[in-house]
Amino acid sequence: MSTYLFPEQELQRRALSWAVRLSVNPATIRVERLGKKWGYCSSDGEVTLSRDLLDMSERHQDVVIVHELLHLRIRTHNRRFKALMSAHLPDWKSLEADLQRASA
Ligand SMILES: [Zn+2]
Repeated sequence: MSTYLFPEQELQRRALSWAVRLSVNPATIRVERLGKKWGYCSSDGEVTLSRDLLDMSERHQDVVIVHELLHLRIRTHNRRFKALMSAHLPDWKSLEADLQRASA
């Protein structure tokens, strides 16, 4: 039996393992073409990740995954949100800055 996963599935699986670590329960995790956005989280708990993340490093994938998954708990970028980002990915600010440059 083959355990080969398509790149989109690898990214989904990575997001699922983060969801377990963060104790959040997304309704779905999708990988789609999103244009200039790297990811988003809908108010009904659906997380969508940009297909373009497949060309980025795993650290950059993680920062988008963790950011969107944390929005399942905290909708805004408040202090608590930022504290959780720092707890899980200490260098999240520079990673997000890289992503912003890459999508500009
Ligand atoms: Zn956000």
